[in-house]
This record gives sequence, C-alpha cells and structure tokens, in this order.
Amino acid sequence: MSKKEATKENSMENLIALCKRRGFVYQGSEIYGGLAGVYDFGPRGVELLNNIKASWWKANVYDKENYYGLDSGMFKHPRVWEASGHTKGFVDPMAECRKCNTRIRVDKELAKIGVAADEKMSEKDLNDLFDAHRNEMVCPSCGKKDFTAVRAFNLLVKTNLGDFTSAGSEPVYLPGEACQGIYLNFKNIVDTLQPSIPFGVAQMGKAFRNEISPRNFLFRTREFEQADTQFFVRPNENKEAYEAIKKDRWQWYLSLGIDEEKLRFKQHEHLVFYAKDAWDIEYDFPTFGFDEIEGIHDRTDYDLTQHMKFSGIDLRYTDPKTVEKYIPWILETSMGLGRVFLAVMADAYHEDELGGKTRVVLRLSPKLAPVKIAVFPLLKNKPQLVEKASEIYTTLKKEFGAVVFDDNGNIGKRYRRQDEIGTPFCVTVDFETIEKHAGVTVRDRDTGGQERVSEKELVDKLRVSMV
Ligand code: ATP
Repeated sequence: MSKKEATKENSMENLIALCKRRGFVYQGSEIYGGLAGVYDFGPRGVELLNNIKASWWKANVYDKENYYGLDSGMFKHPRVWEASGHTKGFVDPMAECRKCNTRIRVDKELAKIGVAADEKMSEKDLNDLFDAHRNEMVCPSCGKKDFTAVRAFNLLVKTNLGDFTSAGSEPVYLPGEACQGIYLNFKNIVDTLQPSIPFGVAQMGKAFRNEISPRNFLFRTREFEQADTQFFVRPNENKEAYEAIKKDRWQWYLSLGIDEEKLRFKQHEHLVFYAKDAWDIEYDFPTFGFDEIEGIHDRTDYDLTQHMKFSGIDLRYTDPKTVEKYIPWILETSMGLGRVFLAVMADAYHEDELGGKTRVVLRLSPKLAPVKIAVFPLLKNKPQLVEKASEIYTTLKKEFGAVVFDDNGNIGKRYRRQDEIGTPFCVTVDFETIEKHAGVTVRDRDTGGQERVSEKELVDKLRVSMV
C-alpha cells in the first residue's frame, strides 16, 4: 500500500481548509464578511451531518425498547426560561480588553493557567479571583494585560414574536438548550402513549447562545444543534441506569469509528445544587486538545418540579399498579452535533503516501461518508466508456443514493478528490470492461488496492463492503 505510514497531520488549520475546499463547512454569511460564531454546512457537510444524526436516532430510538422521539417547537412560552433558571442563571463571566475590546470568558481563561472558577461563585468572588491573577491574563487578540472588571453575561438570545409593538408584550427567547421541549411534553407523552417508567425521550434541536468568544471553528458557535435524551426513572432508581447510559453513549462513539484513545470521560468537580452526578465525554481535538462533546447529567426531579411550580400543572406520574404518584428523576444526555461532526472529521483526517505521492484522505466509516461511491469512465472522450459508466452510475445511484459521476481530469486526480471527501469506493469503467466484458475496477480508499468485479456482482459486493 503506502510507503509512508498514515499520519494525522490534522492541525485545526488543515481541517478547516479541507472543510472549505471540499464543500463541508462554510463561514456563515461569508460574502458579507462573515458572522462570528455561525457556520453553514455545505453539500458534503450536510450529508455527513445527516448520517451522524441518523446513526444517533437509530441508537436512541429504533434500537431501544422504551425510547420515544420528539420534535418540539423552538419558540417557547417566556415562563419556560424562568422555570428552567435560564433568565437569571444562564450566565458566563466576561471581561473585556481595554485596548482592543476583545471579550474573554474569564472561567475558561483562568482554567488555562490551572485556576478553577466555581460555577456558583458570586460576581464579587469572581472579581477577587480574577484580580489575583490579572498579571497572568493576556488578551488573546492584542497581547495586552488590561481588562475591565468581570461581569455576568446572560447567554440567552432574545427576539420578538407576533404583535410585539403593543404595550406589555414581552420578548421570547431562542432556545438556549434543546431539552426543555422534552420536559414540556412529558405529560403529553404519558397521557397519549402511556409509557411505563423507566422510559426515555429523544430529540434533536437547534440551540442559540450569545457566546462571549465563539472560537475553535465548530466547537464554540452561537447557533448549534443538540441531540438530547431524557430518561425518566423512579426517584432514587438513578444509579444503575446512569452507569448503563454512560456505557451506551461511549459505545455509540466507537460505533462511528472514532479512535477510543481519543475519547475520555471527565467527571464534573462542581455540581449544581440539584444534581447527583455529571460526566462529560471529551474528544482530543487537534490543536486545542481534550474538550467536551457530550454531557451526561443525573438531574433528580429538578426540571419537572420547576415546570410544575411555574405552570401550575400536575406533572407527577401515576404508577399504573400501585397508583402511587411521584415526580420522576431525569438522566440526561446532551450532545452537540457540530462538536461531534468536528471530532469525526478530525479522527478521519490522515495524510499518507500512495503511489509515491502524499495525499490527504478522510478515513470515514462508510455509513458516515457523504459520498458512498464515485463512478468514472477511464477517459472522457471515448463515448463507449462514458455510456457504460453512465449506465452503471444510474444503477448504483438507485441503490445507494449518494453516488457521484466524475469524468473531469486524469484518473489519479479524480481518486485524490474522492479520498479527500472520504468516498470509500471508486468504480472505473475501462477498455477491458467494454472489450473483454471483464467487469469494472473497484478501488478501495484506504489501501488504494483495486479489484475487478463483474457488473452482475457489483451491487451486492458494494452493499456488503458498505457496512
Ligand atoms: P461548555 O462548558 O463547553 O460551554 P456546556 O457545559 O455549557 O458547554 P451543555 O449546556 O451541557 O454545554 O450543552 C450540551 C452540549 O451542547 C455540549 O456537550 C456541547 O457538545 C454542545 N454545546 C454547548 N455549547 C455549545 C456551543 N457554543 N457551540 C457548539 N456546541 C455547544
């Protein structure tokens, strides 16, 4: 195969360049100079993203006996965000550089020098902590050490809905997290589907946060999508289920083909007052290292209790056998799809040497690859090759959907283009296909090896290899 062993020269810079070059991710509103913290998924990116979503939905709805899917509206009654604590407590500590106005997230900057800021700290205590380390706090943009005082900055994004000119109307919020829709529909699901506890609800949805400093490409953005599950259990029956969920989520990342060495669990040191336990799954990103891709939280009865209090509606569950009423405890998993997309890309990115030339190759699992098969006529100016290749392309497209036809440039260049987007198989029609009825060649992305396959067997062979 290759002279040089595959390496992972996947600095964030290389990865971002590849995402742009090959149509995976574009800067949001790019022709207007861009909008910080917003990205658009291009034609290749949306396919990869949808494949990640499909795998998550399968694992969390279809492969489970007691999980239900949901898709709730993004706008919610303003009281929802009061009940959840977001209008008051969804804040990050911020300071601003006096020289260039760059804003920093104080807790994250302190963490870089090994100082932990407790989430529950008052603004005054945070200022004292920040003041004690001011001479180590360097502005990431201009390098100066001159910051304003720390203040709490609310991350909710406000907007208006309907007749917002009338007096007394109040703003609504874009969702700061996707999971609230599940709590709001808990009673609906219980009343209409009569599930027995324990059961879970899974939903994906957009979230918006006024992040102080969006950074690290898709890692910290102002608009992103979350995939959440909430598992409802009897009070105090949380421990075993929590451990099972942690294991299950770990396995899902492995099922995407992610290198286990690049994953780790990290337990939260500081828990919010109602939580029993909280762990993050982290991925070792190029350039900035290990950071959170998913949170797994043991939240007790906090969420439903709050909504019961604020809405005045009884959200207790009635045990069908004992008629005992109780507020279920919740075990939550919350994953950022953009962060997982980035982890999958970083993990798949390799540089190796094939046929004496260095190439970039995305070793994506076939089930995630945005294009499954590329079909080529060996030469574009030979009508019989083009005709046969078009025929094969049509057959394969019907079977596999994400199939492309390419007759542009020499065959080596076409292979390189497909390697860079992670296409697992390239099918080439050559003179032997036509003259000797010798079938087509199927080239494997990772080894570069080619095999002749008869036209009759082609679909079945590819289907088997696609798993
Ligand atoms: P962080 O500490 O990094 O700000 P968080 O603990 O606030 O994250 P959660 O509120 O638990 O994150 O959200 C669940 C998941 O949503 C995270 O694990 C992450 O994958 C994703 N997420 C959160 N904030 C962002 C963001 N600004 N951009 C992209 N994904 C995000």
